[in-house]
Amino acid sequence: MLKVVYYKVCLGIYLYDQDPLCEYTERPMQPALKRKDAFPPPAQSRCNKNGHRHHPLTYKNCDATMAVHHTCHDTTIEIHHKGLHDHLKPPPVRVPPEAKRELKNGFNSCRTRPPARP
Ligand SMILES: [Zn+2]
Ligand SMILES: [Zn+2]
Repeated sequence: MLKVVYYKVCLGIYLYDQDPLCEYTERPMQPALKRKDAFPPPAQSRCNKNGHRHHPLTYKNCDATMAVHHTCHDTTIEIHHKGLHDHLKPPPVRVPPEAKRELKNGFNSCRTRPPARP
């Protein structure tokens, strides 16, 4: 089974930072710039709890890295977080179009490899 592993820097998270008990989080959007030190754009959404929806989510950056394992065999994506993320866990991955494209490219390169002969 062939695996493609991408190493990525954690993009951090959007969170409501006015209340330490608030557990609302969102995955950040991709930065507009393709630079390592580029920050995602400010959050567009808010926590919808009473009293929370007046304040936009705050972006929190993170230096930890993660390894994304794409398995050619069954088209799964596993994300292995490495290092210390000092923020809440982001919600589960809804595969963004960009990742889908990347995934497809990954699979294409899997397919173009000659099959192993017994
Ligand atoms: Zn909240
Ligand atoms: Zn992180």
